[in-house]
Amino acid sequence: MLLTIKKVPTVVSNYQEESSETSFEGCGRHCLGKCCLPGSSVPLYSFKIDRENSKENGEVNSAKEQPQVCFLHNLLLGQWEDRMSRGLFRYDVTSCATRIIPGRWGFIAQLNEGRHLKKRPTEFRVDKVLQAFDETKFNFTKIGQEEVLFRFEPGNDLKSEFVPTAPPTADSTSPSVVAINVSPIEFGHVLLIPRVLDCLPQRIDHESFLLALHMAKEASNPFFRIGYNSLGAFATINHLHFQAYYLAVPFPVEKSPTKRIKTVKGMQDRGVIVSRLSNFPVRGFVFEGGNTMQCLSDSVASACIYLQNNNIPYNVLIADSGNKIFLFPQCFAEKQALGKVSQELLETLVNPAVWEIAGHIVLKRRQDFENASEASAWRLLSDVSLSEERFRQVKAYVLEAAGFQETSNTDQEDDSTYDQLSPRAISHLPKDCVVIH
Ligand SMILES: [Zn+2]
Repeated sequence: MLLTIKKVPTVVSNYQEESSETSFEGCGRHCLGKCCLPGSSVPLYSFKIDRENSKENGEVNSAKEQPQVCFLHNLLLGQWEDRMSRGLFRYDVTSCATRIIPGRWGFIAQLNEGRHLKKRPTEFRVDKVLQAFDETKFNFTKIGQEEVLFRFEPGNDLKSEFVPTAPPTADSTSPSVVAINVSPIEFGHVLLIPRVLDCLPQRIDHESFLLALHMAKEASNPFFRIGYNSLGAFATINHLHFQAYYLAVPFPVEKSPTKRIKTVKGMQDRGVIVSRLSNFPVRGFVFEGGNTMQCLSDSVASACIYLQNNNIPYNVLIADSGNKIFLFPQCFAEKQALGKVSQELLETLVNPAVWEIAGHIVLKRRQDFENASEASAWRLLSDVSLSEERFRQVKAYVLEAAGFQETSNTDQEDDSTYDQLSPRAISHLPKDCVVIH
Protein backbone atom coordinates (compact mmCIF):
# COMPACT_ATOMS: atom_id res chain seq x y z
CA MET A 1 0.00 0.00 0.00
CA LEU A 2 1.26 3.42 -0.84
CA LEU A 3 0.76 6.45 1.28
CA THR A 4 1.97 9.97 1.47
CA ILE A 5 4.28 11.58 3.98
CA LYS A 6 3.00 14.85 5.29
CA LYS A 7 5.50 17.65 4.93
CA VAL A 8 6.60 19.00 8.26
CA PRO A 9 8.19 22.36 9.09
CA THR A 10 11.95 22.28 8.70
CA VAL A 11 13.95 22.52 11.88
CA VAL A 12 16.07 25.63 11.49
CA SER A 13 17.97 25.49 14.74
CA ASN A 14 19.30 22.79 16.98
CA TYR A 15 17.83 24.66 19.91
CA GLN A 16 14.43 24.16 18.39
CA GLU A 17 14.76 20.42 18.81
CA GLU A 18 16.55 20.57 22.11
CA SER A 19 13.99 22.81 23.70
CA SER A 20 11.16 20.53 22.69
CA GLU A 21 12.97 17.55 24.16
CA THR A 22 14.05 19.13 27.39
CA SER A 23 10.78 20.85 28.11
CA PHE A 24 9.26 17.64 29.34
CA GLU A 25 10.85 15.38 31.91
CA GLY A 26 8.26 12.74 32.90
CA CYS A 27 9.46 9.94 35.16
CA GLY A 28 12.86 10.02 33.53
CA ARG A 29 12.49 6.62 31.83
CA HIS A 30 10.79 8.03 28.73
CA CYS A 31 8.10 5.39 29.16
CA LEU A 32 4.68 4.80 27.63
CA GLY A 33 2.78 5.72 30.80
CA LYS A 34 0.79 8.77 31.82
CA CYS A 35 3.96 10.26 33.30
CA CYS A 36 5.79 10.47 29.98
CA LEU A 37 3.56 9.81 26.95
CA PRO A 38 1.44 12.97 27.07
CA GLY A 39 3.78 15.67 25.87
CA SER A 40 5.99 13.25 23.95
CA SER A 41 6.28 13.30 20.20
CA VAL A 42 5.64 9.88 18.67
CA PRO A 43 5.52 9.38 14.88
CA LEU A 44 1.95 9.12 13.66
CA TYR A 45 0.49 6.88 11.00
CA SER A 46 -3.06 7.95 10.31
CA PHE A 47 -4.98 5.52 8.18
CA LYS A 48 -7.63 6.34 5.69
CA ILE A 49 -11.23 5.99 6.79
CA ASP A 50 -13.44 4.89 3.96
CA ARG A 51 -16.16 7.46 3.79
CA GLU A 52 -18.35 5.27 1.63
CA ASN A 53 -17.55 2.36 3.92
CA SER A 54 -16.22 0.52 0.94
CA LYS A 55 -14.28 -2.67 1.56
CA GLU A 56 -12.12 -2.09 -1.49
CA ASN A 57 -8.82 -0.30 -1.26
CA GLY A 58 -9.21 3.18 -2.62
CA GLU A 59 -6.62 5.41 -4.22
CA VAL A 60 -4.16 6.52 -1.60
CA ASN A 61 -1.51 8.11 -3.74
CA SER A 62 -3.47 10.98 -5.18
CA ALA A 63 -1.03 13.66 -4.03
CA LYS A 64 1.66 13.12 -6.62
CA GLU A 65 4.02 15.77 -5.33
CA GLN A 66 4.59 14.01 -2.03
CA PRO A 67 6.98 11.12 -1.36
CA GLN A 68 5.37 7.75 -0.93
CA VAL A 69 6.21 4.93 1.42
CA CYS A 70 4.89 1.42 1.79
CA PHE A 71 3.26 0.96 5.21
CA LEU A 72 4.50 -2.58 5.65
CA HIS A 73 7.94 -2.57 4.09
CA ASN A 74 9.24 0.96 4.49
CA LEU A 75 7.60 1.83 7.73
CA LEU A 76 6.72 -1.15 9.89
CA LEU A 77 9.44 -3.57 8.86
CA GLY A 78 11.94 -0.75 8.35
CA GLN A 79 11.39 0.60 11.84
CA TRP A 80 11.45 -2.91 13.27
CA GLU A 81 14.87 -3.50 11.72
CA ASP A 82 16.02 -0.19 13.12
CA ARG A 83 15.10 -1.40 16.63
CA MET A 84 16.93 -4.64 15.95
CA SER A 85 20.07 -2.72 15.00
CA ARG A 86 19.72 -0.79 18.25
CA GLY A 87 19.79 -4.06 20.20
CA LEU A 88 16.33 -3.76 21.72
CA PHE A 89 15.38 -7.41 21.31
CA ARG A 90 16.14 -10.06 23.90
CA TYR A 91 17.56 -12.44 21.32
CA ASP A 92 18.18 -12.53 17.59
CA VAL A 93 15.12 -14.17 16.08
CA THR A 94 16.69 -14.14 12.63
CA SER A 95 19.21 -16.72 13.85
CA CYS A 96 16.52 -19.15 15.07
CA ALA A 97 16.34 -22.27 12.90
CA THR A 98 13.10 -22.67 10.97
CA ARG A 99 12.05 -25.54 8.80
CA ILE A 100 9.00 -26.59 6.88
CA ILE A 101 7.96 -30.03 8.08
CA PRO A 102 7.74 -32.33 5.05
CA GLY A 103 4.22 -33.39 4.17
CA ARG A 104 1.03 -32.18 2.66
CA TRP A 105 0.29 -29.34 5.06
CA GLY A 106 3.61 -27.65 5.41
CA PHE A 107 3.65 -27.09 9.17
CA ILE A 108 6.37 -24.63 10.07
CA ALA A 109 8.64 -25.48 12.98
CA GLN A 110 10.89 -22.97 14.66
CA LEU A 111 13.50 -23.82 17.26
CA ASN A 112 13.54 -21.06 19.82
CA GLU A 113 15.44 -22.17 22.88
CA GLY A 114 15.70 -18.72 24.41
CA ARG A 115 12.16 -17.42 24.27
CA HIS A 116 10.63 -19.11 27.29
CA LEU A 117 13.62 -18.19 29.40
CA LYS A 118 13.63 -14.54 28.43
CA LYS A 119 9.97 -13.81 28.00
CA ARG A 120 8.04 -11.58 30.35
CA PRO A 121 6.43 -14.06 32.74
CA THR A 122 2.70 -14.71 32.87
CA GLU A 123 1.33 -13.15 36.03
CA PHE A 124 -2.32 -14.06 36.31
CA ARG A 125 -4.66 -17.03 36.57
CA VAL A 126 -5.37 -18.96 33.40
CA ASP A 127 -8.90 -20.19 34.14
CA LYS A 128 -10.65 -16.85 33.72
CA VAL A 129 -10.95 -15.24 30.30
CA LEU A 130 -12.00 -11.87 31.68
CA GLN A 131 -9.93 -10.33 34.43
CA ALA A 132 -9.67 -6.76 35.63
CA PHE A 133 -6.65 -4.71 34.61
CA ASP A 134 -4.08 -4.70 37.40
CA GLU A 135 -1.70 -1.77 37.22
CA THR A 136 0.72 -3.40 39.67
CA LYS A 137 1.46 -6.12 37.10
CA PHE A 138 3.48 -5.73 33.93
CA ASN A 139 1.62 -3.78 31.25
CA PHE A 140 2.53 -1.76 28.19
CA THR A 141 2.51 1.61 29.93
CA LYS A 142 5.76 0.41 31.50
CA ILE A 143 7.71 -0.09 28.29
CA GLY A 144 10.14 2.51 26.95
CA GLN A 145 9.14 4.74 24.07
CA GLU A 146 12.09 3.41 22.07
CA GLU A 147 10.06 0.17 21.70
CA VAL A 148 7.26 2.11 19.97
CA LEU A 149 7.34 2.35 16.18
CA PHE A 150 4.45 4.76 15.66
CA ARG A 151 0.95 5.69 16.66
CA PHE A 152 -1.70 4.01 14.53
CA GLU A 153 -4.90 5.99 14.39
CA PRO A 154 -7.80 6.84 12.11
CA GLY A 155 -7.18 9.97 10.10
CA ASN A 156 -9.47 12.74 9.02
CA ASP A 157 -8.23 12.54 5.49
CA LEU A 158 -9.25 10.44 2.55
CA LYS A 159 -5.74 9.11 2.27
CA SER A 160 -3.30 7.47 4.66
CA GLU A 161 -0.50 9.61 5.98
CA PHE A 162 2.68 9.22 7.93
CA VAL A 163 3.91 12.10 10.05
CA PRO A 164 7.45 11.35 11.31
CA THR A 165 7.49 14.24 13.76
CA ALA A 166 3.93 14.45 14.91
CA PRO A 167 2.99 17.06 17.49
CA PRO A 168 3.14 15.84 21.08
CA THR A 169 0.29 13.69 22.30
CA ALA A 170 -2.23 15.79 24.20
CA ASP A 171 -2.90 15.05 27.85
CA SER A 172 -6.44 14.00 27.10
CA THR A 173 -5.70 11.45 24.39
CA SER A 174 -4.87 7.80 24.72
CA PRO A 175 -3.07 6.85 21.52
CA SER A 176 -3.13 3.43 19.89
CA VAL A 177 0.45 2.39 19.23
CA VAL A 178 2.46 -0.21 17.36
CA ALA A 179 5.45 -1.43 19.37
CA ILE A 180 8.02 -4.18 18.92
CA ASN A 181 7.60 -7.47 20.72
CA VAL A 182 10.96 -7.75 22.46
CA SER A 183 10.58 -11.56 22.42
CA PRO A 184 9.81 -11.95 18.72
CA ILE A 185 8.92 -15.23 17.07
CA GLU A 186 9.38 -13.91 13.56
CA PHE A 187 10.61 -11.06 11.44
CA GLY A 188 8.64 -7.88 12.08
CA HIS A 189 6.88 -9.20 15.19
CA VAL A 190 4.98 -6.24 16.62
CA LEU A 191 2.18 -5.48 19.04
CA LEU A 192 -0.83 -3.31 18.33
CA ILE A 193 -1.93 -1.73 21.62
CA PRO A 194 -5.27 0.08 21.34
CA ARG A 195 -5.61 3.25 23.46
CA VAL A 196 -2.64 2.34 25.58
CA LEU A 197 -3.27 4.85 28.37
CA ASP A 198 -6.82 3.61 28.91
CA CYS A 199 -5.30 0.41 30.34
CA LEU A 200 -7.89 -1.90 28.80
CA PRO A 201 -7.69 -5.52 29.94
CA GLN A 202 -7.18 -8.28 27.35
CA ARG A 203 -10.69 -8.49 25.91
CA ILE A 204 -12.08 -7.83 22.44
CA ASP A 205 -14.37 -4.89 21.83
CA HIS A 206 -15.83 -3.76 18.51
CA GLU A 207 -13.70 -0.64 18.15
CA SER A 208 -10.39 -2.34 18.91
CA PHE A 209 -11.08 -5.25 16.60
CA LEU A 210 -11.86 -2.86 13.77
CA LEU A 211 -8.56 -1.12 14.48
CA ALA A 212 -6.75 -4.44 14.03
CA LEU A 213 -8.54 -5.02 10.71
CA HIS A 214 -7.46 -1.57 9.56
CA MET A 215 -3.87 -2.50 10.31
CA ALA A 216 -4.19 -5.67 8.23
CA LYS A 217 -5.71 -3.65 5.42
CA GLU A 218 -2.98 -1.01 5.52
CA ALA A 219 -0.30 -3.72 5.42
CA SER A 220 -2.06 -5.08 2.36
CA ASN A 221 0.11 -8.20 2.20
CA PRO A 222 -1.13 -11.77 2.70
CA PHE A 223 2.08 -12.74 4.50
CA PHE A 224 1.47 -10.22 7.26
CA ARG A 225 -0.94 -11.76 9.74
CA ILE A 226 -2.41 -10.42 12.94
CA GLY A 227 -3.21 -12.66 15.90
CA TYR A 228 -5.02 -12.43 19.20
CA ASN A 229 -4.91 -14.70 22.23
CA SER A 230 -7.47 -14.38 25.00
CA LEU A 231 -6.55 -14.99 28.61
CA GLY A 232 -6.73 -18.73 29.16
CA ALA A 233 -5.59 -19.22 25.55
CA PHE A 234 -1.99 -18.17 26.10
CA ALA A 235 -2.15 -14.42 26.22
CA THR A 236 0.69 -13.60 28.59
CA ILE A 237 -0.12 -9.99 29.41
CA ASN A 238 -3.49 -8.71 30.62
CA HIS A 239 -3.36 -5.45 28.70
CA LEU A 240 -5.27 -5.31 25.43
CA HIS A 241 -2.99 -6.13 22.52
CA PHE A 242 -2.84 -7.85 19.16
CA GLN A 243 0.31 -9.38 17.71
CA ALA A 244 1.45 -9.38 14.10
CA TYR A 245 4.42 -10.51 12.03
CA TYR A 246 5.59 -11.19 8.54
CA LEU A 247 6.27 -14.73 7.33
CA ALA A 248 6.43 -15.41 3.61
CA VAL A 249 4.98 -18.91 3.61
CA PRO A 250 1.38 -20.07 3.72
CA PHE A 251 0.14 -21.17 7.14
CA PRO A 252 -1.37 -24.67 7.19
CA VAL A 253 -4.69 -23.34 8.49
CA GLU A 254 -4.93 -21.19 5.37
CA LYS A 255 -4.86 -24.39 3.32
CA SER A 256 -7.56 -26.13 5.28
CA PRO A 257 -10.71 -27.06 3.40
CA THR A 258 -13.73 -25.28 4.80
CA LYS A 259 -17.41 -25.98 4.83
CA ARG A 260 -19.82 -23.11 4.56
CA ILE A 261 -22.43 -22.91 7.31
CA LYS A 262 -25.77 -22.24 5.70
CA THR A 263 -27.47 -19.28 7.27
CA VAL A 264 -30.79 -17.56 6.77
CA LYS A 265 -30.64 -14.40 4.71
CA GLY A 266 -32.65 -11.84 6.58
CA MET A 267 -32.98 -8.17 7.24
CA GLN A 268 -29.80 -8.30 9.26
CA ASP A 269 -27.78 -9.77 6.40
CA ARG A 270 -24.47 -8.00 6.18
CA GLY A 271 -22.90 -10.16 3.52
CA VAL A 272 -20.63 -12.02 5.92
CA ILE A 273 -19.97 -15.66 5.12
CA VAL A 274 -19.18 -18.04 7.95
CA SER A 275 -17.66 -21.47 7.50
CA ARG A 276 -16.03 -24.09 9.66
CA LEU A 277 -12.69 -25.72 9.05
CA SER A 278 -13.51 -29.15 7.75
CA ASN A 279 -10.18 -30.88 8.08
CA PHE A 280 -7.88 -29.24 10.55
CA PRO A 281 -6.70 -30.51 13.92
CA VAL A 282 -8.22 -27.55 15.75
CA ARG A 283 -11.91 -26.96 15.07
CA GLY A 284 -12.59 -23.37 14.15
CA PHE A 285 -14.65 -20.83 12.28
CA VAL A 286 -13.78 -18.80 9.21
CA PHE A 287 -15.39 -15.40 8.63
CA GLU A 288 -15.08 -13.59 5.31
CA GLY A 289 -16.96 -11.33 2.95
CA GLY A 290 -19.15 -8.62 4.41
CA ASN A 291 -20.72 -5.60 2.72
CA THR A 292 -18.15 -3.44 4.48
CA MET A 293 -15.07 -4.02 6.57
CA GLN A 294 -17.07 -2.96 9.59
CA CYS A 295 -19.72 -5.63 8.90
CA LEU A 296 -17.06 -8.32 8.92
CA SER A 297 -15.37 -6.83 11.96
CA ASP A 298 -18.57 -6.55 13.95
CA SER A 299 -19.58 -10.16 13.25
CA VAL A 300 -16.28 -11.54 14.51
CA ALA A 301 -16.07 -9.14 17.45
CA SER A 302 -19.57 -10.13 18.57
CA ALA A 303 -18.60 -13.79 18.41
CA CYS A 304 -15.46 -13.07 20.47
CA ILE A 305 -17.44 -11.11 23.02
CA TYR A 306 -19.82 -14.04 23.42
CA LEU A 307 -16.92 -16.40 24.01
CA GLN A 308 -15.16 -14.22 26.56
CA ASN A 309 -18.40 -13.44 28.42
CA ASN A 310 -18.96 -17.18 28.71
CA ASN A 311 -15.42 -17.90 29.85
CA ILE A 312 -14.45 -19.82 26.71
CA PRO A 313 -10.80 -19.09 25.82
CA TYR A 314 -10.14 -18.42 22.15
CA ASN A 315 -7.59 -17.36 19.54
CA VAL A 316 -8.08 -15.25 16.42
CA LEU A 317 -6.02 -15.08 13.24
CA ILE A 318 -6.56 -12.21 10.81
CA ALA A 319 -5.30 -13.31 7.39
CA ASP A 320 -5.56 -12.29 3.74
CA SER A 321 -5.06 -8.57 4.45
CA GLY A 322 -8.02 -8.55 6.81
CA ASN A 323 -10.39 -10.30 4.42
CA LYS A 324 -10.38 -13.66 6.17
CA ILE A 325 -10.58 -14.24 9.91
CA PHE A 326 -10.15 -17.53 11.74
CA LEU A 327 -11.66 -17.98 15.20
CA PHE A 328 -10.67 -20.91 17.42
CA PRO A 329 -12.40 -21.57 20.73
CA GLN A 330 -10.01 -23.74 22.73
CA CYS A 331 -9.91 -25.71 25.94
CA PHE A 332 -6.26 -26.54 26.48
CA ALA A 333 -5.99 -24.95 29.94
CA GLU A 334 -9.12 -26.74 31.12
CA LYS A 335 -7.88 -30.07 29.76
CA GLN A 336 -4.53 -29.47 31.37
CA ALA A 337 -6.15 -28.77 34.74
CA LEU A 338 -8.14 -31.99 34.42
CA GLY A 339 -5.02 -33.96 33.54
CA LYS A 340 -6.32 -34.76 30.05
CA VAL A 341 -3.46 -33.40 27.99
CA SER A 342 -1.07 -36.00 26.67
CA GLN A 343 2.26 -36.29 28.39
CA GLU A 344 3.95 -36.06 25.01
CA LEU A 345 2.59 -32.57 24.50
CA LEU A 346 3.22 -31.39 28.05
CA GLU A 347 6.85 -32.39 27.80
CA THR A 348 7.40 -30.19 24.76
CA LEU A 349 6.40 -27.12 26.84
CA VAL A 350 4.70 -25.79 23.72
CA ASN A 351 2.11 -23.11 24.38
CA PRO A 352 -0.58 -23.59 21.76
CA ALA A 353 -1.43 -19.95 21.10
CA VAL A 354 -2.69 -18.46 17.83
CA TRP A 355 0.54 -18.96 15.86
CA GLU A 356 0.91 -22.60 16.86
CA ILE A 357 -2.75 -23.26 16.04
CA ALA A 358 -2.29 -21.64 12.63
CA GLY A 359 0.54 -24.10 12.02
CA HIS A 360 3.66 -22.08 12.90
CA ILE A 361 4.95 -24.01 15.87
CA VAL A 362 7.59 -22.58 18.15
CA LEU A 363 9.51 -25.42 19.77
CA LYS A 364 11.69 -25.04 22.80
CA ARG A 365 13.65 -28.30 22.73
CA ARG A 366 16.05 -29.29 20.00
CA GLN A 367 14.88 -32.92 19.93
CA ASP A 368 11.28 -31.83 19.29
CA PHE A 369 12.44 -29.63 16.46
CA GLU A 370 14.55 -32.33 14.84
CA ASN A 371 11.93 -35.05 15.25
CA ALA A 372 8.92 -32.93 14.30
CA SER A 373 6.70 -34.64 11.76
CA GLU A 374 3.36 -33.76 10.25
CA ALA A 375 1.71 -36.44 12.35
CA SER A 376 3.25 -35.14 15.56
CA ALA A 377 2.22 -31.57 14.76
CA TRP A 378 -1.29 -32.81 14.07
CA ARG A 379 -1.44 -34.72 17.36
CA LEU A 380 -0.14 -31.76 19.26
CA LEU A 381 -2.76 -29.39 17.88
CA SER A 382 -5.59 -31.92 18.27
CA ASP A 383 -5.19 -31.59 22.05
CA VAL A 384 -6.09 -27.92 21.79
CA SER A 385 -9.40 -28.39 20.00
CA LEU A 386 -12.87 -28.54 21.44
CA SER A 387 -14.51 -31.93 20.97
CA GLU A 388 -16.96 -32.18 18.07
CA GLU A 389 -19.88 -32.22 20.49
CA ARG A 390 -18.67 -29.17 22.39
CA PHE A 391 -17.82 -27.35 19.17
CA ARG A 392 -21.37 -27.82 17.89
CA GLN A 393 -22.79 -26.39 21.09
CA VAL A 394 -20.48 -23.41 20.91
CA LYS A 395 -21.19 -22.99 17.20
CA ALA A 396 -24.89 -22.41 17.82
CA TYR A 397 -24.16 -19.65 20.32
CA VAL A 398 -21.37 -18.08 18.30
CA LEU A 399 -23.57 -17.88 15.20
CA GLU A 400 -26.36 -16.30 17.16
CA ALA A 401 -24.01 -13.79 18.75
CA ALA A 402 -22.54 -12.92 15.36
CA GLY A 403 -26.00 -12.25 13.96
CA PHE A 404 -26.56 -15.47 12.02
CA GLN A 405 -29.36 -17.94 12.00
CA GLU A 406 -28.40 -21.39 10.81
CA THR A 407 -30.84 -22.81 8.25
CA SER A 408 -30.74 -26.38 9.52
CA ASN A 409 -28.16 -28.64 10.95
CA THR A 410 -26.88 -29.93 7.66
CA ASP A 411 -23.37 -30.77 8.66
CA GLN A 412 -23.38 -34.27 10.05
CA GLU A 413 -20.00 -35.95 9.50
CA ASP A 414 -16.58 -34.59 9.82
CA ASP A 415 -14.64 -35.27 12.90
CA SER A 416 -11.27 -33.92 11.82
CA THR A 417 -9.03 -36.81 11.05
CA TYR A 418 -5.63 -36.65 9.55
CA ASP A 419 -6.41 -38.59 6.40
CA GLN A 420 -9.76 -37.24 5.39
CA LEU A 421 -9.25 -34.30 3.11
CA SER A 422 -6.22 -32.87 1.47
CA PRO A 423 -5.06 -29.33 1.90
CA ARG A 424 -6.19 -27.01 -0.85
CA ALA A 425 -4.40 -24.39 -2.86
CA ILE A 426 -4.59 -20.87 -1.51
CA SER A 427 -5.84 -18.33 -3.98
CA HIS A 428 -4.76 -15.19 -2.13
CA LEU A 429 -1.09 -16.08 -1.75
CA PRO A 430 1.56 -15.70 -4.43
CA LYS A 431 2.74 -19.04 -5.78
CA ASP A 432 6.47 -18.74 -5.38
CA CYS A 433 7.04 -18.23 -1.71
CA VAL A 434 10.40 -17.64 -0.18
CA VAL A 435 11.22 -17.62 3.50
CA ILE A 436 13.01 -14.37 4.14
CA HIS A 437 15.36 -13.94 7.05
ZN1 LIG B 1 7.35 7.63 32.60
